[in-house]
Amino acid sequence: MNAWTVCCESCDHRWNLVGTWSEYERQAIESRPCPRCGAYTLSSPEPTKATRHKPRPSWAKSYARPALQAG
Ligand SMILES: [Zn+2]
Repeated sequence: MNAWTVCCESCDHRWNLVGTWSEYERQAIESRPCPRCGAYTLSSPEPTKATRHKPRPSWAKSYARPALQAG
C-alpha cells in the first residue's frame, strides 16, 4: 500500500490518498474538479520513494584523492 498526495495548484488544497498509484488513477483524479475551489487544477504526481540510493560513479574515486603531494 502506498500513499500519495493530491494537490490543487489553484487554492493549494491538498490531501492524501492511500492505495496503489498508477497512471490510470492519476488521470482519474486530475480529470475531476477540486472539491474546495472547483478548479480543474488537481495534480497527483507519482510518489517518490524516500530511500533511493544512487550508485557512485567509478570516476568519483579519483577526484576524492588529495591533489597535493608531499615532497
Ligand atoms: Zn482548489
